[in-house]
Amino acid sequence: MDIIEIINKKKDGKVLTKDEIEFAIEGYISKEIADYQMSSLLMAICINGMTDEETINLTNSITKTGEQFDLSKIEDITVDKHSTGGVGDKVTLILLPIMASLDIPMIKMSGRGLGFTGGTADKLESIENFKMNYTLEEAIDMANKYKLCQMTQSENMCLADKEIYSLRSVTGTVDSIPLIASSIMSKKLACGCDKILLDVTCGNGAFMNNIEEARKLARLMVDIGNGNKKQTIAVITNMDEPLGKTIGNSLEIIETIEFLKGRCQEDILEVIKTIGAYIIYLANKGDNIEENKELIERQIYNGNAYKKFQEWIKIQGGNINQINDISLLPKTENILAIKSPKTGYISKIKASQLGYTLIDLGGGRKKKNDKIDYGVGIVLNYKVSYFVNEGDTLCYVHINDLSIKDKIEKKIIDAYEFSDKPIDKPTMILDIIK
Ligand code: URA
Repeated sequence: MDIIEIINKKKDGKVLTKDEIEFAIEGYISKEIADYQMSSLLMAICINGMTDEETINLTNSITKTGEQFDLSKIEDITVDKHSTGGVGDKVTLILLPIMASLDIPMIKMSGRGLGFTGGTADKLESIENFKMNYTLEEAIDMANKYKLCQMTQSENMCLADKEIYSLRSVTGTVDSIPLIASSIMSKKLACGCDKILLDVTCGNGAFMNNIEEARKLARLMVDIGNGNKKQTIAVITNMDEPLGKTIGNSLEIIETIEFLKGRCQEDILEVIKTIGAYIIYLANKGDNIEENKELIERQIYNGNAYKKFQEWIKIQGGNINQINDISLLPKTENILAIKSPKTGYISKIKASQLGYTLIDLGGGRKKKNDKIDYGVGIVLNYKVSYFVNEGDTLCYVHINDLSIKDKIEKKIIDAYEFSDKPIDKPTMILDIIK
């Protein structure tokens, strides 16, 4: 077999065989295939797409390039939850303790920020000493004892995905449905969970900008999961404006604490209830989705979920004083109020633009090894559909470096659009794909 023939075949829009796909992935990992050849193949895939069978073969080839976890020593059914990424997305932080309080064990592997989207691992690291590098045995032990464990992505899992992902981010080949589906699902299959819940985000702050694309991605990932005998459900959620009111690492921890204490932002609550209800269903702990949603609300308002959150931070070594007194979490020297330039109903808050602004503030990475400032971020005062008068405070910017103040202010105001006519509150759950 020859990589140039494989590249030409995909360039001509033909279907690659399982052996050809495996040859390309294995050859790339063993360095017989160069970066420029893999980039060329990735671009051909981006332009000409893949059949579902090709995507399934690509997923399985990537899964085989590393360690595969065996979670059978966990006493209950394990459900893995994965989001395709967003801005202000603190769903995992909130959901894990709620599920654990219902005795549903979850071992969650989370990554760092990617492009304009935030990463759960970065958010949790704004808590001093919070540990995430556990061995598989330690994670299983924690899941059995405490029903939850948050880990960083294993270094040895899906090696081909790591290499290919870095290549995609610098070769304009990120936004391809078969490449995204195989990247995500290879990691989900390697994690060894019994079932999978996918949060497929859709809108300006997501990789999928419209519902048709989001449905296509969700359908493909659900089919890959089910085809591998792991029952999979995808919830398509709205990520057009940021989720909740905060964007930024320690600010999102604070919003999580507030939420679990019962002061819940409506949009987050709707997403948490739906995703959580389907996790309960997948875990065989409740067939009635509406009743499952009520159960989740009960766990929030009776304080059980917050108690579990405090326990979680303690068992993973985090400084609990920072949770009990949020003024001890990383914060900035300055808070600026951004004023509305217009009177009207807020019709758009472009989440990706605010995600990039967080990176400019220092709260995300421009380069792989950049250090991040955990305290910076944005707190929204109003969400889409609210009426504001000119001069009202749209949001607060938590900022350390005042030399970039004018640029930040302009970027944030540009993220807003206004309408003279009333705007409906956005629908948060756009579809469920089983
Ligand atoms: N998340 C991933 O892990 N991979 C992608 O390609 C996109 C989002």
